[in-house]
Amino acid sequence: MANGSNAIGHLYPSDPDGSAPVAYLWARTVKCPNPACGAIIPLISQLLLCKQARRTVALRMVPEKDRRRVRFEVAEGASVTFDPAIGTMQRGDAKCPLCEQTAPVTYLRQECRAGRMSQQLTAVVTVAAGSVGKRYRAATKEDESVFEQSVLALEELRGRNEPDIVPHEPLPPVGTLGFRVNNYGLLKWGDLFSSRQLLALPYATKVHDMQFHGEKPKPTGEGSWPLHGIVYLDDLRGQADREQGEE
Ligand SMILES: [Zn+2]
Repeated sequence: MANGSNAIGHLYPSDPDGSAPVAYLWARTVKCPNPACGAIIPLISQLLLCKQARRTVALRMVPEKDRRRVRFEVAEGASVTFDPAIGTMQRGDAKCPLCEQTAPVTYLRQECRAGRMSQQLTAVVTVAAGSVGKRYRAATKEDESVFEQSVLALEELRGRNEPDIVPHEPLPPVGTLGFRVNNYGLLKWGDLFSSRQLLALPYATKVHDMQFHGEKPKPTGEGSWPLHGIVYLDDLRGQADREQGEE
């Protein structure tokens, strides 16, 4: 995966060792309904990142009582000393990892519709230069701060007198093509993308357009277009919908 064009490439920085990001994994979050707790609950159905014959990689949840939240680490092989099949979600309800109170599905939908559902970066998937094997590492403050830059950049772009780049068309009704996110108050196509993805959309569209007209995007590098796959790097689906056993 290339790091894209000059305009958005800085939003997808490589690691100091040269590994390039191929996916940012996110969990949606809600505030714990227990008034005595109020911790941030990540909504994760299972913690596996990779399950192969010789390789198991999983997220480890580390409750941080002082910060009223969970920190995520990446455990691999013998370090997976917990059951990675168990996350915080079960049959649509969530359980707070700090106080163990259940947040029922009705509460989750209500919080999302009210715009109070948030998101937490859990891990970053990278690929080393010249390799195809995926590496998994915990998300860092730097990852969060780079994402924050894209939120600010999108706000600035939308503040200008230009056509809005955020797709405002309504999503299909619940049940169409398996769409159920509407129950959570996600009603427009733009609601499905992160700020970073929304910034990348015009570039992805340009690449598709060039390919449709038989033009080849320039190889990556100075002045080039990003590969269209870059738009999907921020994975907001959460563990719930992610296939197990990534390569
Ligand atoms: Zn709690």
